[in-house]
Amino acid sequence: MQQLITGIHHVTAVAGNAQDNIDFYVGILGLRLVKKTVNFDGPDVYHFYYGDENGNPGSILTFFPYQGLVSGRHGKGMLNTTAFSVSTSALNYWLERLKKFGITYKEPQERFDGETVVYFEDKDGLGLELVFNEKDTRPGFTLGHIPVEHSVKGFYNVEIWAEGYERTAGLLTEQLDHKLISEKGNRFRFAATNTPGNFVDILCSPHSMKGLAGSGTVHHIAFATPGKQTQADVRLRIVKRMLNPSPILDRNYFTSIYFREPGGVLFEVATSGPGFAVDESAEHLGEALKLPAQYEKDREKLEKTLPTIIVNIDKYR
Ligand code: ZN
Repeated sequence: MQQLITGIHHVTAVAGNAQDNIDFYVGILGLRLVKKTVNFDGPDVYHFYYGDENGNPGSILTFFPYQGLVSGRHGKGMLNTTAFSVSTSALNYWLERLKKFGITYKEPQERFDGETVVYFEDKDGLGLELVFNEKDTRPGFTLGHIPVEHSVKGFYNVEIWAEGYERTAGLLTEQLDHKLISEKGNRFRFAATNTPGNFVDILCSPHSMKGLAGSGTVHHIAFATPGKQTQADVRLRIVKRMLNPSPILDRNYFTSIYFREPGGVLFEVATSGPGFAVDESAEHLGEALKLPAQYEKDREKLEKTLPTIIVNIDKYR
């Protein structure tokens, strides 16, 4: 039977200041801004998409930057950490780089075999990691200010904190084509495709406080499905599990359904295509403000009210 879910598509988080967000993810981490658009459900806020060169599924971290929004809190019922994949040999480079830009990090730790992990946070407190490993065969992407051999290759894994892992695990394995691939202590790792970029870790954290939404927290995680038919088929499975999925929504770069998993995290299932080159050329991704058709009539107003942002990597060499 065809696999309906192939892995992680993207992670979407909530940020504070828009320029700080661009500076951190493009400047310091070296991701490509592959799309500058607005929140389709409330266009007075940007929606930034960062990823590898083409914004391939498994590399895309997106943000809604709400200036002045109250900070959230990490905790159970939330996806608290998004981890990026880099080569083992890049460890010293990144420790130096984080130090150079004043980013506090936790000392490197071993996790599963062949994984050295460094935890840090962006300015809003979003949980991030670099996972130094040799498993990832994806090429790194660079804008030129980070040597390609040290550059980020995409996601490695995400980490969800749960009261207990079983109900979320049931959904992942029964409806979303994931398998348990490793476990250690209170960490249970699942994947639809057993490669970096697709690992979903559930951490049993019954004693942690409940997470609270706000800046510096993840809004949802999206899983990738090949196309419209497989999306409709997954939707039917979610209906049967009585998780009340949304209708299929057009997000221009993919179509989406949303539902809340039993542990409290908002899940999305997004089609792998058509992708980010649908409304601007691959070469110029992220340069112009792109609006979906329904908001084109408001372009002039939006361009005036959205904060001006600049992408400048020179400060981050
Ligand atoms: Zn999404």
